[in-house]
Amino acid sequence: MPFRSLETADLAGKRALVRVDLNVPMADGRVTDDTRLRAVLPTIRFLSTKGAKVVLLAHFDRPKGKRVPEMSLKPVVGPLSALLEQPVAFADDCIGAEAAAVVDGLENGGVALLENIRYHAGEEKNDPAFAAELAKLGDLYVNDAFSAAHRAHASTEGLARLLPAYPGLQMQLELDMLDAALGAPKKPVLGIVGGAKVSTKLDLLNNLVEKLDRLAIGGGMANTFLAAQGHPVGSSLCEHDLGDTAREIMAKAAKAGCELLLPVDVVVAAEVKPNTATRVLALDEVKDGDLILDAGPKTVERLLAAMDDSKTFIWNGPLGVFEVPPFDAATVAAAKKAGELAQAGKLVAVAGGGDTVAALNHAGVAGEMTFVSTAGGAFLEWMEGKVLPGVAALEV
Ligand code: AMP
Repeated sequence: MPFRSLETADLAGKRALVRVDLNVPMADGRVTDDTRLRAVLPTIRFLSTKGAKVVLLAHFDRPKGKRVPEMSLKPVVGPLSALLEQPVAFADDCIGAEAAAVVDGLENGGVALLENIRYHAGEEKNDPAFAAELAKLGDLYVNDAFSAAHRAHASTEGLARLLPAYPGLQMQLELDMLDAALGAPKKPVLGIVGGAKVSTKLDLLNNLVEKLDRLAIGGGMANTFLAAQGHPVGSSLCEHDLGDTAREIMAKAAKAGCELLLPVDVVVAAEVKPNTATRVLALDEVKDGDLILDAGPKTVERLLAAMDDSKTFIWNGPLGVFEVPPFDAATVAAAKKAGELAQAGKLVAVAGGGDTVAALNHAGVAGEMTFVSTAGGAFLEWMEGKVLPGVAALEV
């Protein structure tokens, strides 16, 4: 990996500017879910134990370059300090005299949080002058916010060019796992792309067919592919105008030697309602009024067999309307199988993207996968094969 390592860095007495993701859910000024706070603890503890002065940079919400009191990071101080079991100082601004005074006041091993960096318009503009102001507060830069790495902002990109830059522990883990899944994976590699629409996942599909041995397409987007092959899809969600696009992707997959696994049977109902009457149909039995809401049992069986045959598995997007049982059946079966194989050490199973995390939690197996990325947009852009500016800036 072409990155510097914190393990070998000289940290004692150094001011480490650490970009973290503290964009936690909040209601009435209270943190309602501390998952993201817990994710940054290892890096902070590591730096603190090595005697660095830890200065945290983060954004909260979208204040668009203005001071919006409701978007202050101050409410995060208490919960973060409690989880760290050490005091966290707070500076009312992320640059200037106020920030400098708080940083100067830190002892070795001390931790400070600076106010929302997006209060300054220079952050999202990646303004060099703003990045230079931030750089005055540190001797080195650590990025532990993979979820913000698809943005070229001052705190994710510009600053990394001004100070010796390191990936944090969480960032490093994410990069290692993504590399194990798509960079230099053990073959054969199987992917699932599901979810609602082909149109939002074109870049993803186009990149994956070049990289994977097999790609299962599920969810609403599979209907677009089935329709493009001339199968009836009834009243299902389907982008009929994307027939040519779907056929192009199928041709590209064939050329690249990627076997596409499209549904061979489907679960239909007359409406999207919990525990409504369902029918399993072969592809050509779908009639007007039918809604395809999940993959059928034969499709699932073939997918699980493909998992058995694979060494690496990467997943984004549910196979059906998993929020409304029984249309969660295919998604849950695939999730359980991936979890089992990962636990048995037979499969490197990596998943990510908003709804995918929710689907894995719903199946109760998020903890059994090799790695689940909660990075949303950054994870998807990486899966699309795009260069993430915040990662590129860390390369030596
Ligand atoms: P995405 O955000 O593109 O990953 O899409 C996720 C959404 O796709 C979920 O809310 C699912 O309910 C929905 N979805 C999955 N399969 C289908 C389907 N067959 N018909 C309609 N929506 C679906």
